[in-house]
Amino acid sequence: MSDKPEKFIDEKGLRLDGRRVNEIRPMKMEIGVLSRADGSCYLEWGKNKVLAAVYGPRELHPRRLQKADSALIRYRYNMAAFSVEDRIRPGPSRRSIEISKVSREAFEPVVLTHLYPGAVIDVFAEVLQADAGTRTAAINAASMALADAGIPMKGLVSACAVGKVDGQLVLDLNKPEDNYGDADIPMAMTSEGEITLLQMDGDVTQEEFKQAVELCKEGCRQILEIQKETLKNKFTKLEEVEVSDEEEDVDVSALVESTLDSLEEDETSEDVEDIEEEMEVEDLEDVEAEDEVESVEDQEDSFRDVDEVEIPENNDEDVPEDDEETA
Ligand code: ADP
Repeated sequence: MSDKPEKFIDEKGLRLDGRRVNEIRPMKMEIGVLSRADGSCYLEWGKNKVLAAVYGPRELHPRRLQKADSALIRYRYNMAAFSVEDRIRPGPSRRSIEISKVSREAFEPVVLTHLYPGAVIDVFAEVLQADAGTRTAAINAASMALADAGIPMKGLVSACAVGKVDGQLVLDLNKPEDNYGDADIPMAMTSEGEITLLQMDGDVTQEEFKQAVELCKEGCRQILEIQKETLKNKFTKLEEVEVSDEEEDVDVSALVESTLDSLEEDETSEDVEDIEEEMEVEDLEDVEAEDEVESVEDQEDSFRDVDEVEIPENNDEDVPEDDEETA
């Protein structure tokens, strides 16, 4: 572990990683990364790397754990053994059990669980690389995985920590700030600013606490924008595929119609009294009509290809059973 830095903020107001006090670390995310999960998200935030997977809503077994009037949310936060410099002992620890519990509670007021009585919604957050702020990173990823799974929510949950170093409040602590700072206050909130998770380690005054909440709201607003943008990108892509399918459909029906029209025109323009000529024309028409039908089939095949490639099927049979209660 590195030593405590002499100063966390320089005279220009810049932190050790070059950020200002109200800036978050660079964040990017992608949803739908796991084909067997109902919803998933991979998130990178600074040096943190987190994968979230959501399964459900599905029937909860054993049945005695079912809630009659709502779905149960289970949340498992886990740090991979290789996620930190020194290997972490695999399996649940006091820390991961606590984080799983508070993270689950961060989603309970937001997910519309009453729509799925007797069901369970499983959320798995795997930290692949840890560099301070992993619980908030996991919540941001889990929120996106829930949205990706199409689970009805009042809104997205965004999370960020505020801390205190060199007597100043700073947004989104990096590793040295987290290790050696005077305070660490992780929070999660809805898009309306309703706080669903609040923890505090260290000391701040009442006034500083109020400022910390405001600073955190600012951070969560920035994160919400990235989350919304990620969702928009995915659904715009899906819309494009659907629209192009419709266009192709119109072409197919137009093609069929024009083929039929041309066949009718050809028939009426023929001298019906000349049977031999009529026979010849019909032979020709058969060949043309066969060609057209083939081209329609070709196009329909290509739509099938697009459907198969762009919109993978959700294979519920592959979802592993996990009856372990995590929190
Ligand atoms: P958070 O990751 O939410 O900030 P903590 O404040 O408990 O949670 O941890 C801060 C950082 O300390 C983690 O992000 C991780 O980099 C590191 N850390 C946490 N637990 C361990 C551990 N058991 N071994 C090594 N490093 C750890």
